[in-house]
Amino acid sequence: MIGCSCEVCTSTNPKDKRLRSSILVQSVKTTLVVDTTPDFRYQMLREHVMHLDAVIFTHSHKDHIAGLDDIRAYNYFTKKPMEVYATLPTQEALKREFHYAFEEKKYPGIPNMNLTTIDHEPFLVGDILVEPIKVRHLKMPVLGFRFGKFTYITDANGIIDAEKDKIKGSGVVVLNALRKEKHISHFTLNEAVAMADELQIPQAYFTHISHQLGRHADVNASLSKSRQLAWDALILEF
Ligand SMILES: [Zn+2]
Ligand SMILES: [Zn+2]
Ligand SMILES: [Zn+2]
Repeated sequence: MIGCSCEVCTSTNPKDKRLRSSILVQSVKTTLVVDTTPDFRYQMLREHVMHLDAVIFTHSHKDHIAGLDDIRAYNYFTKKPMEVYATLPTQEALKREFHYAFEEKKYPGIPNMNLTTIDHEPFLVGDILVEPIKVRHLKMPVLGFRFGKFTYITDANGIIDAEKDKIKGSGVVVLNALRKEKHISHFTLNEAVAMADELQIPQAYFTHISHQLGRHADVNASLSKSRQLAWDALILEF
């Protein structure tokens, strides 16, 4: 956190360097990212992501959309709009926050995207099947996504039973776990562990971690091997 000198913010362990939450999902043919965080540009540079087919959005909060402008680098090389998948409320936010990208007379070099509306129906991005899962973030509907045996859920503090059924059977789940203390719109660490246990998921990783949760090594030592904190640049193969 900017301006903080706590043990996490001053840690020299690279696993304590927590950029904003996002994942890249890749098949042999297709590459997509879930959310374009304020760190999107650096994340793409760090991982040498030379090609990106699509962006899919969980919700419209700034820490999940702010980096969208930088898709223009991909536009520049492909000469094509970026495929962007979002719910209608998220699209409204994108049009508000990046109004210049949607104007009739566009300034050259601005981000160029092709919007596709999603809700709760599964959809295909190239050869990747994406199954949306509706979760609750205080009162805001947010989408999690299941990709085969892998489910990614960020920014939730409640999941209704019908949506829980869509997660069951996953081999790995990523869930948000902000800190240990109760929060109005995010799962705590205990709540995230309990959710993974309830859904009987063999392996869970936690993301969207605040510095308030403590150091990576300390927290992970307090958890079982099947319930661990994720870290930036963690790679999972299926
Ligand atoms: Zn701190
Ligand atoms: Zn949020
Ligand atoms: Zn967030």
